[in-house]
Amino acid sequence: MSFRAHLLEETDGKVAGGLVELEESRLPEGEVTVAVEWSTLNYKDGMVLKGIGRLVRSYPHVPGVDFAGTVEASSDPRYKAGDKVVLTGWRVGEWHWGGYAEKARVKADWLVPLPAGLTTRQAMAIGTAGFTAMLAVLDLERHGLAPGEERPVLVTGAAGGVGSVAVAILATLGYRVAASTGRAETHGYLRDLGAAEIVERAELAEAPSRPLDKERWAACVDAVGGTTLAHVLSQMGYGRSIAAVGLAGGNRLETTVLPFLLRGVKLLGIDSVLRPYADRVAAWQRLVADLPLDRLEAMTSEAGLGELPALADAILAGQIQGRKVIDVR
Ligand code: NDP
Repeated sequence: MSFRAHLLEETDGKVAGGLVELEESRLPEGEVTVAVEWSTLNYKDGMVLKGIGRLVRSYPHVPGVDFAGTVEASSDPRYKAGDKVVLTGWRVGEWHWGGYAEKARVKADWLVPLPAGLTTRQAMAIGTAGFTAMLAVLDLERHGLAPGEERPVLVTGAAGGVGSVAVAILATLGYRVAASTGRAETHGYLRDLGAAEIVERAELAEAPSRPLDKERWAACVDAVGGTTLAHVLSQMGYGRSIAAVGLAGGNRLETTVLPFLLRGVKLLGIDSVLRPYADRVAAWQRLVADLPLDRLEAMTSEAGLGELPALADAILAGQIQGRKVIDVR
């Protein structure tokens, strides 16, 4: 019994990979074996595929931080053959073999049942990026974001995966969404997802000229980090929150404490990888409720396993629009 996989090898410190046939005996230990149907492309997948950031513990390695498919066999009573399941996070695709293969074997604890109302393809169109966007919105709500805001909610890196889902959810919930992008060709796309206004990336990319600027935002989902995050901090409305999700623009943050001390601004860190099961199920339920499937489809495009090396370059260069699902079948 063999299956197709994108396998990464490390030679003389260089990471490269391609499609291979693997014997099923090569699968790692785990309670649940899944016939993978769809996977997805996240920024982190780009890093793993290019061997950046030392995210992978050992080679040979099967990347792919997300997958959805059908259980083939399970020694855990929570799952049985034929169940549809979804996996995001838990360092799958980094420390553990991931979703860029026709089969995966994982711990039962890492899975969630496919949410009712979604296909495996739709679950992967959401993927880690969309799941994280939902976690960000949930945390902003927990810290006071509610309909009726006068100021817009800002989304940075808006045309990327996290950003696109965040724009669509926030617009569906009735917020006025300001979408920040560096790509002029995505303006129409972002308006179709529900953005009410477009903010040029360059406007926020420089370090702020003063610690406290005009109050501009009711909340922010930030996929960019770096000087953009520092800039946005200086423009937050009194008592408002930023969900810090990503580092597409850099992982350093140079700021002053004044937005925190004088405006009570809150900086909320969002981690999707180690979220407990109950949080996961709740976030997937909210995704089903608050992310219209037509908008999800509008931000989704497909690719095959053979396209992964080129896609890795594209996502690290900020060239992927919305969400890319990987057809593994
Ligand atoms: P994408 O590449 O799809 O989106 C990132 C977007 O950021 C790009 O589309 C682009 O948007 C913008 N961008 C890219 N480069 C730059 C730059 N140099 N300066 C400013 N903006 C830039 O990636 P994802 O949506 O998958 O992930 C976004 C970020 O969130 C990543 O850093 C990722 O690691 C992180 N992440 C974190 C998670 C967590 O658990 N905390 C989970 C998932 C992702 P535009 O063209 O519109 O300007």
